[in-house]
Amino acid sequence: MPLKKAHQRIGFVPTMGALHKGHLALILKAKEICDVVVCSIFVNPTQFTDPKDLEKYPRPIQSDIQQLQNVGCDFLFMPSVLEMYPKPEKWQIALGNAEKVLEGAFRPGHYQGVTQIVKKLFDAVTPDIAFFGQKDYQQVLMIEKLIEKFKLPVQLFRHPTIRETDGLAMSSRNVHLSADERKRALVLSKALFFVQNHFEKYSIPQLLEKAATMIRNEEGVELEYFAICNGKTLMPIAKKSAATIVALIAAKVGATRLIDNVIIKEQTTSF
Ligand code: AMP
Repeated sequence: MPLKKAHQRIGFVPTMGALHKGHLALILKAKEICDVVVCSIFVNPTQFTDPKDLEKYPRPIQSDIQQLQNVGCDFLFMPSVLEMYPKPEKWQIALGNAEKVLEGAFRPGHYQGVTQIVKKLFDAVTPDIAFFGQKDYQQVLMIEKLIEKFKLPVQLFRHPTIRETDGLAMSSRNVHLSADERKRALVLSKALFFVQNHFEKYSIPQLLEKAATMIRNEEGVELEYFAICNGKTLMPIAKKSAATIVALIAAKVGATRLIDNVIIKEQTTSF
């Protein structure tokens, strides 16, 4: 690639489209620290465990292109499914124990699909720095593993979660929420912030119980998991001594499945 030869620093933001300010924040950060920025839009079928979820995934491509132009993204890579998967193929890499918990437990095989497509996208784009959101905390750990396994010459930048002013984490799936569900969905971030703000005051079992009660009391919200974990291994913690601690939640609000997390403490960041 001529850009590579010209020693241009390539920043890459992989997305599934239906862009919002969370995605745009990643692109703006990439523009800040790279010479050229590539965004990809690809709704990757191999990472969906629910065919209905794949089918109804929003695809507002004209508005996406407009938003990319507005923020001055240099390149949009928008391959077809056939281009990325010309023939059926198996992908199985060892991602460690953290693959099977939380999202991995509720969406078996999800991170195999994620790492499969990210490897293909990295091969196509050859980025120097790839930008991912903390919103998908477990995903960032899985991409770290992918990079480590294949010794890929890519640096990872984890961008903080961008939220609506009332605290709801921005997500492409939020468009599926009715006005009433949108209000009820606030309980996810409220429970996370409660745990973050009261971490010193209560024990871990007390925090888990209080968060679960908050969510149980919100009608129409079905909790899948609320966990306080070691931020490196994603194993639930009983004591507060881990260097990195994160609280993570997944819940269905009506028919829409949402995830969110907060970092309670962290020893170092990758940048
Ligand atoms: P997606 O299109 O949902 O696959 O997301 C593409 C990238 O944007 C992923 O790295 C996500 O973690 C990131 N992202 C999605 N929502 C947010 C958000 N609210 N704040 C920051 N990053 C986000």
